Amino acid sequence: MQRTLSIVKPDGVNKNLIGEVIRRFEKAGIGVIALKMVHLTKKQAEGFYAVHRQRPFFDSLTTFMCSGPIVPMVLEGKDAIKKVRDIMGATNPKDAAPGTIRKDFADSIESNIVHGSDGPDTAAFEISYFFNATEIFELKG
Ligand code: ATP
Ligand code: MG
Repeated sequence: MQRTLSIVKPDGVNKNLIGEVIRRFEKAGIGVIALKMVHLTKKQAEGFYAVHRQRPFFDSLTTFMCSGPIVPMVLEGKDAIKKVRDIMGATNPKDAAPGTIRKDFADSIESNIVHGSDGPDTAAFEISYFFNATEIFELKG
């Protein structure tokens, strides 16, 4: 079993896609073990995306991520990190495979509906960025 952090980004929340995103993960056998809705400050968005600080899109990305509420969640399942990223599709919706969330719903490489951790170390950092141990649950069966 593996844990990962996903986020329905502000564009996904605005397009009423919270349920659709979760449905696709759950259908793939990936369970939700923590969930909340938050509106990040610019500083909080910058902290979350600190690895991208040097990238040209950093300011635009962090402004976008605090433009409205988001829905972070902790997901658990076998190979959850890779499975979630496969369900999301490529960063740029133009490159995303048919049937992926980004292909189906994203407007641009920045406004791409959903986030997913890219490895075990980033997953651990990103989960702890949004959730305390008491906010994460064990599923039965
Ligand atoms: P995420 O980290 O959100 O799951 P990702 O791992 O596919 O997406 P990253 O390379 O980590 O992509 O980039 C983080 C986010 O920054 C992207 O999801 C997208 O919102 C934004 N982004 C990435 N590349 C660009 C770009 N060239 N121009 C504008 N925004 C970008
Ligand atoms: Mg990433």
